[in-house]
Amino acid sequence: MRRLISLFVLAALWQLLAPQTACGKKYTVFADGRSEYVIVLASDAVENERLAAVELQRWLFEVSGVQLPIVAPNEGQRGRRLIVGFNAATEQLLKGEVKPEAGNDSFTYRNVGGDILLWGGADRGTLYAVYSLLERELGCRWYTSDVSLAPRRTEWTFARLFNHEKPALRMRDDNYRDAMEPRFAARLRNNTIPLPTVDGRGLIPGSAIRYWSCHTFGQFVPVNKYFDTHPEYFSLIDGKRLRDRSQLCLTNPDVLRLCTQGILERMRTLPDFLVYSLSQNDWYNPCQCSKCQAIVDKYGGQQSGIMLWFVNQVADAVKQEFPNKFVGTFAYQYTRTPPTGIRPRQNVVVRLCSIETCLLHEYDDCEQNKRFLDDLRQWSSIAPNLYVWDYVCAFSDYLLPLPNFKTLASHLRDIRDHHAIGVMEEGDYQNRGAELDELRVYVLAKLLWNPDADTDSIIYDFTEGFYGPAGKYIRQYLEYEHQTLRREGIHQNCYPRPHFAMYSDEFVTESRRILQQALDAVAYNSELQKRVDRAMLPLDYLWLCRKPDEAIAAGALSHFKRVMNQNNFTRIREWGKEQVAEFIQRLEEKK
Ligand SMILES: [Zn+2]
Ligand SMILES: [Zn+2]
Repeated sequence: MRRLISLFVLAALWQLLAPQTACGKKYTVFADGRSEYVIVLASDAVENERLAAVELQRWLFEVSGVQLPIVAPNEGQRGRRLIVGFNAATEQLLKGEVKPEAGNDSFTYRNVGGDILLWGGADRGTLYAVYSLLERELGCRWYTSDVSLAPRRTEWTFARLFNHEKPALRMRDDNYRDAMEPRFAARLRNNTIPLPTVDGRGLIPGSAIRYWSCHTFGQFVPVNKYFDTHPEYFSLIDGKRLRDRSQLCLTNPDVLRLCTQGILERMRTLPDFLVYSLSQNDWYNPCQCSKCQAIVDKYGGQQSGIMLWFVNQVADAVKQEFPNKFVGTFAYQYTRTPPTGIRPRQNVVVRLCSIETCLLHEYDDCEQNKRFLDDLRQWSSIAPNLYVWDYVCAFSDYLLPLPNFKTLASHLRDIRDHHAIGVMEEGDYQNRGAELDELRVYVLAKLLWNPDADTDSIIYDFTEGFYGPAGKYIRQYLEYEHQTLRREGIHQNCYPRPHFAMYSDEFVTESRRILQQALDAVAYNSELQKRVDRAMLPLDYLWLCRKPDEAIAAGALSHFKRVMNQNNFTRIREWGKEQVAEFIQRLEEKK
């Protein structure tokens, strides 16, 4: 049925657009190093739109060798214009089309005769229209912050252009180190990082949808400042007020006052954020005092009940001064399960955390995931603004092979279908180096924009472009990894360890054999070799952890050292000091 409807919609669209293409006229944007086109930008365009025009100019030049001038709407020659942003020229050509709100990330590009119009919300939509045109029509790619592709061509002609897209999620946080580089983040449509300025030397304020901080109880009511004089502000545990790893006593009126002041102060001094976190510290120990317990009991016996009861009061108190900002809190660990009898206010964002879930299976596929899906479903029914903090990396050993590529899309689809406004995909945010992290950043960015996109096609596209002739072996490794490690009875959260039953020595041997073929395929090119060397790191690491003597004798340690140093990777796990030097030293003592 759905298919029939799509066919019907397509047919109707074709009818609508057919007159422009009926004559089959083709337009040439550039040919043989020459072009009659100009880029049209309104003189009052905002900096984000100027960036869009400059990016279009730059990448068109990379593809064609022609530098198109950027001109004002009244200077361009009708029929040979690339019109960037919704401006007077757009209104003239598309009578009745409504200018999108600035914050709307949706975009369209299309032609009217020989003119090409690219527009969306002024904040980012127009910029995304430019990137989409460059990607879809000209084959440009931005694989990492330092590897891009702009295929050279002698000619670009078109008869009809049309593409309209809107994001599945309003807030898209691809939380990997490389995706935080502002220019690359913009190209990935990761909208939690501010845009770079046109000259790339600064950031454009107000151009990102950002979530301020997390685990903030300790910031608003610091133990060192208050515990000695006011132990009653902190959790009562087994009859005593707790100093270390404590939460707050949420029924204490002074605690409410301090947290309200804290949020107001952040909203006043850090105006560039949309959501301000008021949330539990990163451990357990909620207060057990009788007043707190009474509130917990009132809302279904859930700690999330007292958390919402508390956060709602702060949200009410800041609403008048900041009607367009949100107070954010967690549904995390002891507050993950939703309460009954209370709902978050309209200006509260609930950030539901998937830390306990199994990365290997879909949400309706194994027990721990079904429990998360239940919580997701229930939060979705009571929270006007639900946001998911998703864990997609191996945080105890960033470098371990992690077979979760095939579940990323389905998890995101479930989250989208439960009306989440945003997702943070927490990856190796501290340093690059997780298994195939370049590919992970790219795949997640595409899926955050559209979880219905086909993961295999994205992987194919990336591996062909980024690894060249080694790409097919990287895909072979990924297939082997997914088939071998996702076995019956194996479930894995984001904390796998090298000695876990999921891994085997046979897996190490066979994976290394496949990746050695990848290395051989690019032996002629040192840049491609460096990329494949990085793909080998997780296998070096796993082998060195499981069978150090054998791995060292076979040269895995020297390869590991060389590649880690070459890339400046210093971290093995999320917590503790930087640990690579220590790991290497321990192994060298074994030699
Ligand atoms: Zn209490
Ligand atoms: Zn599972």
